[in-house]
Amino acid sequence: MPNIKLSHVKKTFPNGFEVVKDFNMEITDGEFVVFLGPSGSGKSTVLRMVAGLEEPSGGEIRIDGKRLEEIPPKERSMAMLFQNYAVYPKLTVYENIGFGLRQRGVAEEVIDEKVRLIANLLEVADLLKKKPRSLTASQRQRVALARALIYDPQILVMDEPFANMEENVRPRISKRVAEIHAQMKGIVMLVTHNLPIGLRLADRVVMMKLGEVHQIGTPSEVYDQPASLFVADFIGDPK
Ligand code: ADP
Ligand code: MG
Repeated sequence: MPNIKLSHVKKTFPNGFEVVKDFNMEITDGEFVVFLGPSGSGKSTVLRMVAGLEEPSGGEIRIDGKRLEEIPPKERSMAMLFQNYAVYPKLTVYENIGFGLRQRGVAEEVIDEKVRLIANLLEVADLLKKKPRSLTASQRQRVALARALIYDPQILVMDEPFANMEENVRPRISKRVAEIHAQMKGIVMLVTHNLPIGLRLADRVVMMKLGEVHQIGTPSEVYDQPASLFVADFIGDPK
C-alpha cells in the first residue's frame, strides 16, 4: 500500500516566480485527495512534481519512504492524466485504452477484457473502433481517463479529468471514478474546478491559493471550519 510524503516542497520558475511555496503533506493508502483553489495556485505543479514531470526546486517527495528521483519510472506504479497528455491520434480508441497494458506485455485476452470493462464504465464502449479525431472533446477526455484507470495503478494523478465533459455525463463519470478508486484502494490525487464533485469525491481536500496551502482537511472540516476567509469564500457560505 502506497504512502506519499511531501516535505517542504517548493517550485520556483527561472523567472523567480514561486508557484509552490512550502508544501507539506502525507498521503496514506487508499486516500482520495482533491486539490482546490483558483487558477495559478500551483495545484497542477504539485501534481506534475509527484508525477515526476517537474523537478522540485527544494524539499523532497518520498513514496513508501524512498525519494521519488531514486525510483526508476518503470517501478513507479503510477498513472497520470494531464490536459496536455492527449490520446494517440493514429490509434483507435480500443488501442489507445489498452496501450499501457500492451506496452507492459499483458496478454491480449486480458487486455481485451479490461478495455471492454473500463470502456463500458466510462461510456465509450460504442466508440472502440473509432479514431480520436472523430470524437467529441468529452469522449476524448473519457478515453484518456480510461487509459489512465485501466492500469490499476497504486497512485493515480489526474489534472482536471472532468474538464471537457458535458454537464450531463460528468456526475455519472465522477461516480464511476469513485467506484474504481474504491476497488483499486490506491492513492488518487486530483485537481478539479468542479467544487461539488471535488467535495463529493475527496477523503481530504487541499485548499491552495498563490502557491500556499490554506487548509488540508476532510470536506466537512473545510466546510464547517474554514481555516481562512479565502477557504470560507471559496467553499461558499454554508448557511
Ligand atoms: P493551477 O493548477 O493552480 O492553476 P499551476 O500549477 O498551473 O496552477 O501554476 C500556474 C502558475 O505558474 C501560473 O501563474 C503560471 O503563469 C506559472 N507558470 C507555469 N509554468 C511556468 C514557467 N515555466 N515559468 C514561469 N511561470 C510558470
Ligand atoms: Mg492547473
